[in-house]
Amino acid sequence: MKEKGLLIVLSGPSGVGKGTVRKALFSQPDTKFEYSISMTTRKPREGEVDGVDYFFKERAEFERLIEQGKLLEYAEYVGNYYGTPVDYVRETLETGKDVFLEIEVQGAKQVREKFPDGLFIFLAPPSLSELESRITNRGTEDEQLIKNRMETARKEIELMNLYDYVVENDKIENACEKIKAIVVAEHCRTTRV
Ligand code: 5GP
Repeated sequence: MKEKGLLIVLSGPSGVGKGTVRKALFSQPDTKFEYSISMTTRKPREGEVDGVDYFFKERAEFERLIEQGKLLEYAEYVGNYYGTPVDYVRETLETGKDVFLEIEVQGAKQVREKFPDGLFIFLAPPSLSELESRITNRGTEDEQLIKNRMETARKEIELMNLYDYVVENDKIENACEKIKAIVVAEHCRTTRV
């Protein structure tokens, strides 16, 4: 049997509710994976605790960590850096535990390159699967508007192809159940046991 843990990456478009789903997952007692706390240069929001929600860093320190190769991935998002500490991830996987990352899409792309056999889950807005057919079938929209919507939908669908699974975030509880079921199934894959 394989002894290393599984690297689970939850990502998806901005505003889809990744953080909410992640918090809901980790509030459940039967969630067995370890959450990798990210580093960020953004200032803490009210109630956020250093070392719990994030490791809050100054920009210069974050850039030093990048140079030293201490981050598995990083991205700049709305003017702030966000990144995953590489040592924590590697060391935890070595102990056989699963590690869970909740990161934006640019970072997920970088992780895919370094951990091709990680488990990549795309959290999608509820309407995404219907979107393309709705746009093309409707036929009443202004041509430019259809074009723009198709372009956005196409980009989102293209992004989804980098992932192993798509979970629609219709309801938080449903999304959590699906993610847990996917992790269980992934551990039973013939290529992983
Ligand atoms: P927020 O500032 O709302 O906590 O997070 C903003 C965005 O950064 C969210 O999409 C979140 O998923 C993403 N994020 C959080 N941690 C990381 C990380 O370590 N790396 C990357 N690439 N994105 C992250």
